[in-house]
Amino acid sequence: MLTDDQFTLQDSNGRRNRILHLPATDPLYDFVEKRFEKGWKHPDKPKPPVHAIFKIQLTKENLEAYQKYRTRVEASPIVRVHPNSRIEKLLFHGTNRRCLLADDKSRTRLCELPECHLCRIVGSSFDIAKCGMKHQFRRFGTGIYSTSCSSKADDYVVDGAKKSTFRVMLASRVIVGKPFKRRQNGTGLTGPPPGYHSIVGKPGIHLNYPETVVYDNDAIRPAFLVVYGFPPEKDPNALRSVISKLFKTPIAS
Ligand SMILES: [Zn+2]
Repeated sequence: MLTDDQFTLQDSNGRRNRILHLPATDPLYDFVEKRFEKGWKHPDKPKPPVHAIFKIQLTKENLEAYQKYRTRVEASPIVRVHPNSRIEKLLFHGTNRRCLLADDKSRTRLCELPECHLCRIVGSSFDIAKCGMKHQFRRFGTGIYSTSCSSKADDYVVDGAKKSTFRVMLASRVIVGKPFKRRQNGTGLTGPPPGYHSIVGKPGIHLNYPETVVYDNDAIRPAFLVVYGFPPEKDPNALRSVISKLFKTPIAS
């Protein structure tokens, strides 16, 4: 379903045109939305509607490094004996957004704030060196974390911009290759065991929901932004602000 040419940036290398709004009729929209909905597993969190989906466009160099890594994994003996296994997956990742990127159709320009991790990842993909800057606890060591469980990725989504209406998470293409399955924590890990390409945390002992960790920057590329959340009128805080504006008086809190 996903092909590399869908993600190649054609006409700009700067901060513009890095994300492309997908019409709801685009087959890719449906593809991503279905996975987001299927991945929403937390029983205590109501499933929010998807408001928009943007495709992320990568520079040629950025895409080529990913393709090179994938070719290497495809050629590894452990993958070659299972030719039908899917070595690439679409997985979710939540991070912080300090601007209004993707908040509406026209917000497609990346900001320049170093602390806006969303824009930095869209612009130049993930960086292991930054892993764990936000979260001290690294269950499977120093790697890049993603998950098929959208409601788990949602736990890491932080909206720093005051005026933002929606929440935004990344859906990334991840080369899982031959994954090593693990049920117990391994905080000192720096890679999977020899012959494997990723670690997949299985729910059971230490985990409630699955997660995938890769240990090479070129094993993952951001592919889509999913814009989601309940409309502001259903948000109790927003309602307070509307009432306050209507009567031009602050409401006691
Ligand atoms: Zn930003």
